[in-house]
Amino acid sequence: MQENDLIIKLEHLSKEFDGVKVLDDVSLDIKKGEFVTFLGPSGCGKTTTLRIIAGFTKPDAGSVIMEGKDISEVPPYRRPLNTVFQRYALFPHLDVYDNVAFGLKLQKVPEDEIEKRVKRVLKLVSMSDYEDRDVESLSGGQQQRVAIARALINQPKVLLLDEPLAALDLKMRKDMQIELKEMHKKLGITFIYVTHDQEEALTLSDTIVVMNEGRIQQIGTPIDIYNEPVNCFVADFIGESNILKGRMIRDRRVAFIKHEFDCVDEGFGEDVKVDVVVRPEDIYFTTDPAKCQFKAKVNSCTFKGVHYEMWVDTDTGYELMIQDYDPYPVGSEVMLYIDPDDIQVMKKEREFNSFAAKVKGEGRVEFLDTEFECDTQGFEEGEQAQAVIRFEKVDLLDHEEDADLTGNVEFILYMGDHYHLTIKTDAGENIWVDTNDIWDKGDFVGIKILPGDITLHKVASGNE
Ligand code: ATP
Repeated sequence: MQENDLIIKLEHLSKEFDGVKVLDDVSLDIKKGEFVTFLGPSGCGKTTTLRIIAGFTKPDAGSVIMEGKDISEVPPYRRPLNTVFQRYALFPHLDVYDNVAFGLKLQKVPEDEIEKRVKRVLKLVSMSDYEDRDVESLSGGQQQRVAIARALINQPKVLLLDEPLAALDLKMRKDMQIELKEMHKKLGITFIYVTHDQEEALTLSDTIVVMNEGRIQQIGTPIDIYNEPVNCFVADFIGESNILKGRMIRDRRVAFIKHEFDCVDEGFGEDVKVDVVVRPEDIYFTTDPAKCQFKAKVNSCTFKGVHYEMWVDTDTGYELMIQDYDPYPVGSEVMLYIDPDDIQVMKKEREFNSFAAKVKGEGRVEFLDTEFECDTQGFEEGEQAQAVIRFEKVDLLDHEEDADLTGNVEFILYMGDHYHLTIKTDAGENIWVDTNDIWDKGDFVGIKILPGDITLHKVASGNE
């Protein structure tokens, strides 16, 4: 990308609140005229990033470059951008015209110029007939249009939108999405949008920036992000997915659900553990035994408006979700296949838990701010080590007694025959758990690790 095609460059932004890192080394290039969306679950740092761009929040590290100039020290009102918030923040005692004209009146812009500009932006947001209306008599969608008009009146180069449609009902939200996209096209300015709604992001954006836990997970077009998620988090967050453990046998050949498939992926190596994503609409039914790659039994079938959603049990004991325009009766035996193009192979992010640990004495080690019993043979007291625990060896309890430490369920992935959980421990670090038990996001859990399930590894000398 040419440097002068860029309007904003975020360079290594980091931010902590109360000792908790909410942004961790966020870097991003935003092109002039682009519609960029920050997408991610609540608390992932989207709004903080937007507020840093706007100048309302100061980063602990990193800088914001706008058209080649570092604007990190420029106050918000001097930045050539404007923000639309989720709550419309209109002045209730002023009518539509005066709400939109407010900033220009403060700047003492001549009355006839104000009128021209107010009329132009109200036309742009389809609110020309509402100039004299009291803002409180408007619907949520109309109030948000007024808020957008007010943000556009100063002709910003960049419009920042923080979940601007979140307070609207579904129908109004859909209508406003179409209008926002048209507005963006007409204006030609850069829109930076924040949402946790993946469908909204896919509908609106040229580029989606998927965030989780203060880090950018993937940057790409909606189609790239949907078709080629880089990790399980993105695959699960965008659309429905079957996410499964797999093994790359060699280039273009992968095994999962205890069957082998041709795929298009190369360069992973031979006999390498991977994660595999197959979208539910990419598993096909067939009546031709020659095409059939595996058999399954239909477990449930639900009409979803356009397609049917079916859960099937494979002949090898995995549960898969399939979407098809035709329903298959519950209990029926079906033959299925997946095209090589529709199998997305991803590098495994981690294969086990690994924590920096300190040997506290014979049979005792500390990590996650907690002392555990384990075999310390071959280690000296005070020695640094790496404590390794397999995902399935971490026990979760629904109470605190008997637990070594506690945490909360952050993220749940169903992997076809078990759940893979991310637990945010009270020590601040995550621990990952494979389990057959059903937990909900946000659940408080006790975490128990038996002494025999912790393996200590030596760390390279000099590595504190
Ligand atoms: P949401 O969609 O819920 O707004 P988000 O992805 O926009 O989520 P942020 O608003 O950026 O997330 O917040 C990231 C984290 O930082 C959250 O845990 C939030 O509670 C915390 N946080 C944000 N602002 C502050 C603040 N001023 N003081 C303390 N903590 C804050």
